[in-house]
Amino acid sequence: MNSFTVQKIEAWPVDLPLKAPFVVATGAMDVAKNIFVRVTLQDGSVGFGEVAPFPDISGEDQAASLSAFPAAAQVLLGQPATQFRLLSQRILEMTRPFPALRCGLETALLDALCRAMGIPLWGLWGGADVRGRETDVTLPIGPIDAVVATAQDWYHQGFQVLKMKVGHDVEEDIRRVAAVATTCTNASFVIDANQGYTFSQARIFIQAIEHLHISVQVFEQPIHRDHLEEMVMLKNQSTIPLAADESLRSIEDARCLIEEKAVDIFNLKITKCGVMESVRIAELARASGIRLMIGGMVESRIAMGCSWSLVLGLGGFDVLDLDMPLLLAVDPIQGGFHYEGAMLHPWHQSGLGMSINPDHASMVSIE
Ligand SMILES: [Mg+2]
Repeated sequence: MNSFTVQKIEAWPVDLPLKAPFVVATGAMDVAKNIFVRVTLQDGSVGFGEVAPFPDISGEDQAASLSAFPAAAQVLLGQPATQFRLLSQRILEMTRPFPALRCGLETALLDALCRAMGIPLWGLWGGADVRGRETDVTLPIGPIDAVVATAQDWYHQGFQVLKMKVGHDVEEDIRRVAAVATTCTNASFVIDANQGYTFSQARIFIQAIEHLHISVQVFEQPIHRDHLEEMVMLKNQSTIPLAADESLRSIEDARCLIEEKAVDIFNLKITKCGVMESVRIAELARASGIRLMIGGMVESRIAMGCSWSLVLGLGGFDVLDLDMPLLLAVDPIQGGFHYEGAMLHPWHQSGLGMSINPDHASMVSIE
């Protein structure tokens, strides 16, 4: 036993309502049913993590994650947080169907360790790029007039990069993106189809965007992850950079996408790959000439703070899609990084620098 030994792991469910329903090609959400995790070390240091499953994207949900929590948490109990790479590997074996749960446990472990060491979490990754950065903001699928009004609102608040969800109806999607581009004249775009298009629909969409000269930084996941050959064809026929999101769930997926030269950009998310596997994927991508983007699920500043730590600590991220806490109706977190318009600012307190009031009534505790 030493001061870094994990003494207790707790988890409790939390419901985070959105300001407006979040509609994407594969489903919709109006309340994020997440889980907060708290790890306590021998020296009393505590760390927080967040489990943010998106059932329509990953199949994982709050109830299943909570029921898998005790066995996965048991792996950490009595172990030294300083061996976080080894522990992460062991948790991975326990939580293959539950990447968001793995992410929550890893985040809480790393937060606790960094608090015990007295360094911010981004310091653990090396502090390669510690500066304020701008995030995009997401516009879910909706009626054109409503989406244009929401886009203008964000644009006037200083958001220069608008992320538009598409993938329901290609003709309507083109009209909606064109309408927003016409009113937000200097905006650039991230487009995300969440696998909603067929190959030919994706071609129609890309040709229309090229024809309209709309500035698109990234087109995420135009088609289904199973259609790798079509993704390669699409990339070879497109002037718009393509990104893998749903196609990238593990380091094995990353290797395959690199080998097939299927995409230009990886969209990393700690909630789908876990924290340490995301670090490994980022390193592999950079060594292979793949550009990096980082995003999240519907989550609070806890999970997003951990993703932000990777941007600050590892460096090399071109596109930040770290807007989700801005779309929530509540912010149950005290301290940590903050937003100023589209800008995320680094923090300098230990770990994530955040705290949460636990819900003792619904807490599951492993000690
Ligand atoms: Mg995406």
